Amino acid sequence: MKPALTGETLDSISARLAERGEPAFRAGQILDWVYKKRARSWEEMTNLPKALRGWLEETFTLMPAALVLTRQSVDVTDKLLLELSDRSLIETVIIRVPQDGVGLDHSRKTICISTQVGCAMACAFCASGLAGLKRDLTAGEIVAQLLQVCYLEDARTPRARAELASFDNIVVMGMGEPLANYEELIRALTIVNADWGLGFGARRITISTSGIVPKILRLADEPLGFRLAVSLHGATDEVRGKIMPVNRAYPLAKLVPAVKAFSERHGRMVTLEFILIEGVNDGLDQARALRDIALDVHAHVNLIPYNAVEGLPWNRPTLERQEAFARILEQARLSVTLRREKGHDIDAACGQLRLKTERDRPEAA
Ligand code: SAH
Repeated sequence: MKPALTGETLDSISARLAERGEPAFRAGQILDWVYKKRARSWEEMTNLPKALRGWLEETFTLMPAALVLTRQSVDVTDKLLLELSDRSLIETVIIRVPQDGVGLDHSRKTICISTQVGCAMACAFCASGLAGLKRDLTAGEIVAQLLQVCYLEDARTPRARAELASFDNIVVMGMGEPLANYEELIRALTIVNADWGLGFGARRITISTSGIVPKILRLADEPLGFRLAVSLHGATDEVRGKIMPVNRAYPLAKLVPAVKAFSERHGRMVTLEFILIEGVNDGLDQARALRDIALDVHAHVNLIPYNAVEGLPWNRPTLERQEAFARILEQARLSVTLRREKGHDIDAACGQLRLKTERDRPEAA
């Protein structure tokens, strides 16, 4: 199978071209077509010699993820369902946050990308892990999700086209555990960040992990300063261990110091994510324990009311209970957001759209 052009770096393409005796500037031209001009076919690359275009076509896939479905919710979330060459399905979500006084076209956009097909972490509450891990995504498939979003946005607002990534933030919070696919993730984000790629600032990219401690420490040493979010979901080993198997290998006594080391290394706040599940982790004792951890690591806390998943017994607590939980953190002067879940109606949460589509498509592997 042909590798994806979207997984190649300036260096890797330059090396291939040098083997063929092509002039060095061709690599930049090719990448310009992909990331700045958003070419959708080889024929569009008109400043390349025909023979070179022919070789590119034989050697690479231009776009390894095909858009099969877009769903727009009643609020401001769009969901892209993408099909890969092995028919695997992945999801990419566009979350729009409207700014005061301007239209939806000018809203801030956060793109949520996936890093694996399925997930091996087996968190008890999550749809993505229900069927286990199918495979890691390649760097090219990770980058392709963002290009597909660019195509969509370019078509909507032609003025945004060319030279610009048409979104404000990237969160690696879609399907999969990003730090379990470390090499391809970093390669992809390096391409996204490079000025010959999407030119997107590392500080506007947040990687969310269920808490793989050695990889958090490795991420802290990366030259590009990505932001870190950690899915805590339990503020004691007793509660966290019940819902997140990863807590057995990396209990809080290991996780918390790693998160602290990351934040000290970068001089920037990390985010602790805490989904609120009724009767599981929404007690005020958990709020107090979470408060102590957040104060210790100087973290921002993101409280997320649980999104019900078909076939799983969990629910979100009442608004009153959510607010009581948040109040404990606010009283300690922590930075807290209680997220009003977006995209509920389009199954935007974590693997739900893919799950339904896989079910309706029984012939798929
Ligand atoms: N594996 C990574 C990133 C993907 S999950 C991680 O664990 O952080 C992104 C976030 O969505 C995680 O915080 C995850 O715990 C949360 N999540 C999973 N299922 C959810 C649900 N049904 N409702 C709300 N949040 C959910």
